[in-house]
Amino acid sequence: MNVYELIKKKRDGLELSREEIDFLINGFVNGRIPDYQMTAFLMAVYFRNMSTRESCDLTMAMVESGETVDLSEINGFNIDKHSTGGVGDTTTLVLAPLVAASGGIVAKMSGRELGHTGGTVDKLESIPGMQVELAKDKFVEIVNDIHVSLIAQTTNLAPADKQIYALRNVTATIDSIPLIASSIMSKKLAAGADGIVLDVKTGAGAFMQKYEDAVELAKTMVYIGECAGKKVVALITGMEQPLGNAIGNAIEIKEAIETLNGKGPQDLVDLVLELGSMMLVVAGIESSSSAAHRTLEKNIAQKKGLEKLAELIEAQGGNPEVIENLDLLPQPKTKIEINAEVAGFIEKINALEVGMASRILGAGRKTKTEPIDLSIGILLKKKVGDRVDKGEPLAVFYSDGDKQKIDPAKAKFLSAYTIGDRQSDPPRLFYARVSANNVQEFNPS
Ligand code: URA
Ligand code: CA
Repeated sequence: MNVYELIKKKRDGLELSREEIDFLINGFVNGRIPDYQMTAFLMAVYFRNMSTRESCDLTMAMVESGETVDLSEINGFNIDKHSTGGVGDTTTLVLAPLVAASGGIVAKMSGRELGHTGGTVDKLESIPGMQVELAKDKFVEIVNDIHVSLIAQTTNLAPADKQIYALRNVTATIDSIPLIASSIMSKKLAAGADGIVLDVKTGAGAFMQKYEDAVELAKTMVYIGECAGKKVVALITGMEQPLGNAIGNAIEIKEAIETLNGKGPQDLVDLVLELGSMMLVVAGIESSSSAAHRTLEKNIAQKKGLEKLAELIEAQGGNPEVIENLDLLPQPKTKIEINAEVAGFIEKINALEVGMASRILGAGRKTKTEPIDLSIGILLKKKVGDRVDKGEPLAVFYSDGDKQKIDPAKAKFLSAYTIGDRQSDPPRLFYARVSANNVQEFNPS
């Protein structure tokens, strides 16, 4: 096979075979195919797209480029959840214990990614004593014992994705549906779950700003899951403003505990119930979405999810008293109210800009090795549709007191808010459920 011919074939809009895709991915990972040829190939994919079969073959070639996690020692159906990226997305911290308390098995390894805040495992580390760097045997033992464990990913999953992503990032080839779908699914499939529920975000704060593109991405990922022999469904949700009120690390743990205590912000609760019910249905534990909703609501009301979180914390060496005493979490040096400069109604909140503000404030890392001050974050006081008076707080910054961070974070934060005269409804949260054979749209509400 000849790389030039394969680039030309894709450039001309023809379909590549599994062998041809394997040849390209293996050749690239092994250093036989240089960056400039892979880049040209990626740009050809950007313009010519891929068939679902090619997307599946590309994903499998990427899975096979590295190690995979074998979770066959876990007794029962292991269900994972993945979000295509949100701001202040606390859902995993609530879902994992709640779904486990409702009969599911959640064995999840997450990365410490660069972002607006730390990843799930960084957030968990704000619980005193909590260990997230556990060996796989210990992880499996905890899952078999209490049906949930959340640890840091140490295995080198889908290295082809890492190398390809680095090229895409600097050559304007990120926003291609087959490339995004294969990137996400290669990592998910390598991580060993039996079933996956995908939360595909759409709207101003998301990768896929247009609804139609989000559906196309969801369908492609569901198809890839199916061709890999996994049960995969997707939920299309809106990211028109940050989810919940907390953006940060310790502050999101606090929000997760409050949510499991029945006192969560409505949008976060609604999303958790919908994703959780899809997880229970995919795992075969509940037969309908409405029955699953009832189970999850009951387990919030009866504090079963909260008890499960305490078990999880204890099993991983943390202090479960944090559940009752939120003061055990890292506390910020100072709290600063960020006040509205005009009166009116909140018409829009740009989630990405709020995320950037939290990162500037110090809640997320800018380089791989940078430590995060887990006490830093933003607590929103006003969301879309709320009224605000001039001088009334829009949010509270949890800060280390460094003016060099606070001033630019404040400017970025204030620019994220649109305050006007008209009271708008809260933005839509649910758009559609996507499964292998249908797209079920929600009624707009
Ligand atoms: N997230 C990923 O992991 N990969 C992409 O390509 C886009 C979003
Ligand atoms: Ca949140």
